[in-house]
Amino acid sequence: MDASASAQGSGDPQEYCKHGVRGSKHVTWGMGFFFVKNSLDKCCLCGSSERLTGEHKIKRTGIAKEFGTDTMTIGTIGAKNSRLRYAQSPKSKAFHFRSKLCAECNGSRTQEPDREFDRLHTHISELVQDGNEPSEAFDSAEYAVGTQRFNNIARYFAKLICCHLAEIDAPRPIYISRFAIGSFMQNRMYLGVHRDWTFDRHVGPDGDRKYAAHGGLVVSGNRDTHALNGFHSTLTFGPVQYGFFFRLDWKELLELRLFHSKFYAWARKQVKQGTEQPLSENERKSLGL
Ligand SMILES: [Zn+2]
Ligand SMILES: [Zn+2]
Repeated sequence: MDASASAQGSGDPQEYCKHGVRGSKHVTWGMGFFFVKNSLDKCCLCGSSERLTGEHKIKRTGIAKEFGTDTMTIGTIGAKNSRLRYAQSPKSKAFHFRSKLCAECNGSRTQEPDREFDRLHTHISELVQDGNEPSEAFDSAEYAVGTQRFNNIARYFAKLICCHLAEIDAPRPIYISRFAIGSFMQNRMYLGVHRDWTFDRHVGPDGDRKYAAHGGLVVSGNRDTHALNGFHSTLTFGPVQYGFFFRLDWKELLELRLFHSKFYAWARKQVKQGTEQPLSENERKSLGL
């Protein structure tokens, strides 16, 4: 059985990793095969400290397309006390990751996945408008698993999960980040899309509430052993929720345990807490779990 705990807003993320604190100098592990330490003065995909830029938690083109410049609602689903927060415009700080990307990783290296996501979302919005299920998009040959289009979508979400991990000062998963920027070809991201439960429940009925949300970072693990097994997040535009996660393999877990022990201990604690105080039925539904 899997247990899940939301890492967003639970505990101080700086507690477990002194090296991740903003502005502090730190030594990068030279021996990391699968993970490397992140810091806020480095790109969270390639580690460069050149020309750092901010990344949006919720894609700005998606917001502009869906909502124009209207006032809108941002849900912080998965937070301990789930509440809707209001942002004044799509430029609000609430949309930005603290963690940074270098200009290349935020530009040419991820442009194709970015555009493919815009294209997919336009297609899915049309499906939904016509009364179809969003998941039908992945039933089409065009976006079938293993196609280039699918891989570009997976790369887009690989970037987002790396940003979410860096946001809580977790080490960078090297193969996931390389996949995001196109320098490693094997996809390990699992993707899903469906109607957003929160939207349908709270926003749908009155029709005119604009809604976008991200699910923070959810740590998943084994209910009995508290072993960590992966990371999960979501992204919602209006009625459409994308879910994405990757599983850690045993070599990665071993490296985390040996060389990133504070993060490993913290993540296991999240799993344990998630087992002792499981997410409520509503929280699980809001995360599409
Ligand atoms: Zn970079
Ligand atoms: Zn911005």
